[in-house]
Amino acid sequence: MLLATDLDGTFLAGSAADKEQLYELVRIREDIQLVFVTGRGIRSVLALLEDPYLPRPEYIICDVGATVTHLASLISVEPVQSDIARLWPGDHVREQLKAVKGLLHQDAHQQYRCSYYYDDATDIDTAREIAESLHCDLVLSAGKYLDILPRGVNKGNTLQQLLGVLSLPHHEVLVAGDTMNDYTMYEIGFKGVVVGGAEPELLARTVGMRNVLQAGRIGTGGILEAMAWFPEFGRYL
Ligand SMILES: [Mg+2]
Repeated sequence: MLLATDLDGTFLAGSAADKEQLYELVRIREDIQLVFVTGRGIRSVLALLEDPYLPRPEYIICDVGATVTHLASLISVEPVQSDIARLWPGDHVREQLKAVKGLLHQDAHQQYRCSYYYDDATDIDTAREIAESLHCDLVLSAGKYLDILPRGVNKGNTLQQLLGVLSLPHHEVLVAGDTMNDYTMYEIGFKGVVVGGAEPELLARTVGMRNVLQAGRIGTGGILEAMAWFPEFGRYL
C-alpha cells in the first residue's frame, strides 16, 4: 500500500504510543510506501527529517501540491513538476495581491504558489477576483492559511499525477489529512481518513463520502484506525 499523508495535525500528531506504532510499521514493512503531502515547503520538511525518529518518505509533495520531489535524489518528479511550472503566472501574483487588505505574506521560500495568513478582516473577495484574473485558485485552510496556486493544482491532483508516473493503482492508496487543503485528496476518490481533531469544515464536507473514514483518534491514531477499518489495509497492521 501507499500511505499519502499530510504532516501537521496528521502524521506528526497523535499520542506517543500511536506515533511509535505507525512510524515503526512504516519503517519495518517494505510493502508500505510513504509519501508526504503537505502545505510546508521542501526546506521545512527536510529540517523535520533531520530527526531520525520520523520515517523517511519516498516522495514529498510540498506547497499544497505545487512541488513534488523524490527524496533520495532531491530531484523534481517529471513531467509533473514542469506541467505545474507552466501553469504558474510568476512573481507578479505577489505584486498584484499586495493590493488586498488584511493579507499577511508568509516569508517561506516558495515556488509556483504564494501563501498568506488571513483573518476576519481580510478582503477575501478581492483576493479571489485577482486569483481568478491570473488563472489561479485560492485555497483557504485551517481558518488562517490562504494559498494562491496555479488553477487545478492541489494535493489531490498532484498525488494523482505522481501515481501515474509510478504506475501505481488508486486502490492501493490511503490518504490522510485534517484541514481543508487536504479535501481534494478525498474529492478525487482516494480511500482516506480525516483524522480526529480535524477542521470542522473538512468534517462537514466529507460527511457521507463512501471512500472516507472520519476517525475518532488524533493524527497517527486516526491513520491506524483507518488501516484497521478499510478491509484491504488491515493486513498491513
Ligand atoms: Mg494538516
